[in-house]
Amino acid sequence: MTNYKSFQAQINEKFGLLFSSKPRIFQAPGRVNLIGEHTDYNDGFVFPIALERRTTAAMIRRDDRKLEIWSENMGESIAIDLNDNSSKRNHWSDYVAGVAAIMEKSGMTLSGANIYLESDVPVGSGLSSSAALEVSTALGLAAIHGIEIDKISLAKLCQRAENEFVGMKCGIMDQFIACHGEHNKALLLDCRSLDFQMIELPLQNALFVVCNTMVKHELGASEYNKRRSECEEAVQILSQHIPGVQSLRDISISQFTQHAAKLPPVVRNRTRHVITETQRVLDAIEALKNDDLAEFGELMNASHNSLQADYEVSCTELDTMVEIARSIDGTLGARMTGGGFGGCTVNLVLEDQVDSFCSIIQQRYQHKFNRMPDIYISAPSHGMREIS
Ligand code: ADP
Ligand code: MG
Repeated sequence: MTNYKSFQAQINEKFGLLFSSKPRIFQAPGRVNLIGEHTDYNDGFVFPIALERRTTAAMIRRDDRKLEIWSENMGESIAIDLNDNSSKRNHWSDYVAGVAAIMEKSGMTLSGANIYLESDVPVGSGLSSSAALEVSTALGLAAIHGIEIDKISLAKLCQRAENEFVGMKCGIMDQFIACHGEHNKALLLDCRSLDFQMIELPLQNALFVVCNTMVKHELGASEYNKRRSECEEAVQILSQHIPGVQSLRDISISQFTQHAAKLPPVVRNRTRHVITETQRVLDAIEALKNDDLAEFGELMNASHNSLQADYEVSCTELDTMVEIARSIDGTLGARMTGGGFGGCTVNLVLEDQVDSFCSIIQQRYQHKFNRMPDIYISAPSHGMREIS
């Protein structure tokens, strides 16, 4: 609370230097998914929290159909003409321009804006700086134009911006949690119906600790597309034997066991991951209801093992980070989080062991890979909001 005013004053000052005016200030958080990985595009469940790290979009309206955007993180500005904004420029501003383009496609007319961006969500590390950018921008553009939009429509609009404009076929999780996050709660989202519940996290004396491998392997994007088509292949085969199957979400563990032999080996492994992971999310909710953090941690461990062995989206750096974490006293669970092939792990760690957890991770990881991992500790935090 103490820096709150001064943060706002700092933003006002930077904005004033760039645009000689006083902005309205909007924010949206990054996120970490606690369990439920690669389930979103299979219509399953995910369970993310919003982080205390956020993207700030300060803005004021202008009336010449221009977006004048400065990103403090990129140290760069760009001018965008809303009359010439139908396709991407292969630039960081695509996320902002994409939001504007989809808003206009949806019938919202924008007159233009001066926008200042800064973020303490690590960019490109799997904590969804992209959704934080989209959601803070969309919230701000709507507000300064007097456009009313509910949270779910805003999340969908931002997902469309990333899917259709930027060209990244992400699910809805990131935008949804950036809109809906709540203090000390995680989001249980049914990716099929978009029914959701904010679930209290009885963390007692434990914390979520996020460790960044500081790597992002190139094959991530192509493997992601491969996994999606392997899941489609599984649905195509299994739907011939099990009536009413539209996605892997529709298949129970016992149905899978019964029909597994009909799937090619690799596809069978992918399917096993998705089906067991969907169940693990539900089991994790049950564990929380019973105040059983040890069980929650075990499910996080099982999730990682399944992503590593069956879904094959982990990598040496993630596996090592998880192994180190599990060897430390006070670690209840450790897993990769996000799409994989780099990015971050999420760990559930007893509070009084967190200091030694961080130093052991940093020391051993750096020793092995010659890179110092960043570590972020965050309580589950609130979603988008205006702070001015
Ligand atoms: P993640 O969402 O996991 O951080 P992505 O690759 O999906 O990784 O999104 C990162 C991209 O989003 C960056 O390369 C950049 O183009 C854009 N981006 C995110 N935050 C900012 C920011 N504060 N300023 C400018 N661009 C940003
Ligand atoms: Mg992203």
